[in-house]
Amino acid sequence: MTATRPPLDYRTSPMPATTQHALPSYLDANHLGPWGIYLAQVDRVTPHLGKLSRWVETLKRPKRSLIVDVPIQLDNGTIAHFEGYRVQHNTSRGPGKGGVRFHQDVTLSEVMALSAWMSIKNAAVNVPYGGAKGGIRVDPRNLSMGELERLTRRYTSEIGLIIGPTKDIPAPDVNTNAQVMAWMMDTYSMNVGETATGVVTGKPVDLGGSLGRNEATGRGVYTLGIEAAKRIGLELNNTRVAIQGFGNVGGIAGKLFHEAGARVVAVQDHTGSIYKESGLDAAALLLHVKENGGVAGFAGAETVDPAQFWSTPCDILIPAALEGQLTAKTAPQVQAKLVIEGANGPTTPEADDILQERGILVLPDVIANAGGVTVSYFEWVQDFSSFFWTEKEINERLVRVMSEAFDGIWKVAQEKKVSLRTATFIVACTRILHAREMRGLYP
Ligand code: NAD
Repeated sequence: MTATRPPLDYRTSPMPATTQHALPSYLDANHLGPWGIYLAQVDRVTPHLGKLSRWVETLKRPKRSLIVDVPIQLDNGTIAHFEGYRVQHNTSRGPGKGGVRFHQDVTLSEVMALSAWMSIKNAAVNVPYGGAKGGIRVDPRNLSMGELERLTRRYTSEIGLIIGPTKDIPAPDVNTNAQVMAWMMDTYSMNVGETATGVVTGKPVDLGGSLGRNEATGRGVYTLGIEAAKRIGLELNNTRVAIQGFGNVGGIAGKLFHEAGARVVAVQDHTGSIYKESGLDAAALLLHVKENGGVAGFAGAETVDPAQFWSTPCDILIPAALEGQLTAKTAPQVQAKLVIEGANGPTTPEADDILQERGILVLPDVIANAGGVTVSYFEWVQDFSSFFWTEKEINERLVRVMSEAFDGIWKVAQEKKVSLRTATFIVACTRILHAREMRGLYP
């Protein structure tokens, strides 16, 4: 059996042909795809950029997109080819930075959008990085450990042309983890002839990884979640929280909300939806997920119809699984007062408008889930100095960086009377385009 090479999704991979951007006609306005959603977000912020708007086209084109063929020998002796990507959206403020996703639905368009959101996110929390992202169109569940290692190493070697500790630093994303990062670090190091721990972040702690990195994104979601809740007068004690996705982001955030006195009343993942009015024990649920692969069957919880999840009575809703979950169809059902986007791109622009009209505060992904990249930055700094910090120092610095970023964004949202998403884009795009302008064009 030889795995076939799936076609690229060109429909959602538009590269505007003119400098005056308009959405290509073949993109259905209702199905923009992730890159289309990102472009729509940039269009919304452009009127707020003043003189810097002359540079805005920079944000609408990835600086560099690499498509690579990743051939591997399967355990049964046949050769399989997979399509891999690494996109560097913008490097005006520093090296590219962003995760690597292994998923059967990965497309160039998706990686472009995710890389662009990394540019925004890194600028929003003011870490000295541009934005990048990578991926392989593969279902890793169909691969043995040996096949996964060969796939990772060949992919790393192929994108080795453009990554490096001062060029572009990958990290884990969906279906990649510390082990995958260890293979990437080793492959890159073998190719350059020296151990280069700083080429990836999210590594195992014994290989130059950082304490606190694994929990950082969920901790950031929780940290800014309580900041945002305070601003709208929401007391944490007894507050009802509903979470989609109970993996690294949703699970850790859920545990922290639970520990702080909130009630995690509903959780949905790929195995089903569960509900408990008096609150689920989030720590026990994390353990259950670890042992059983999902939330289904958790003792003491009611199993509910997954279609009902979005209308769950709750105060805080945390989409922490997939893109495009809050849509024109699901947004009107939301009961929460606050939506915290743990996932990347969970809300379509139409749903954003619906939530705003309904007076529901949305804490956008580009700031809410920036905890991971913030601690990745700490990891990279620690690797360069070969001096490692305590977990307490890391968590304190994480809270400080994120809270300061949030304060600035909140002020912009109040002053300009815009959503937190637009405010985050204003802050981030201004930083990126200001750097672009100061550097100037070469030649
Ligand atoms: P994960 O693989 O640990 O968890 C994913 C969760 O989503 C699982 O609970 C899974 O069951 C659930 N899920 C999958 N398909 C689903 C479906 N159809 N319906 C409901 N739930 C479903 O992944 P993660 O690291 O927690 O990432 C989740 C999201 O957060 C992604 O969008 C990712 O890009 C984003 N994110 C992650 C990090 C990080 O550091 N891990 C950082 C920033 C953003």
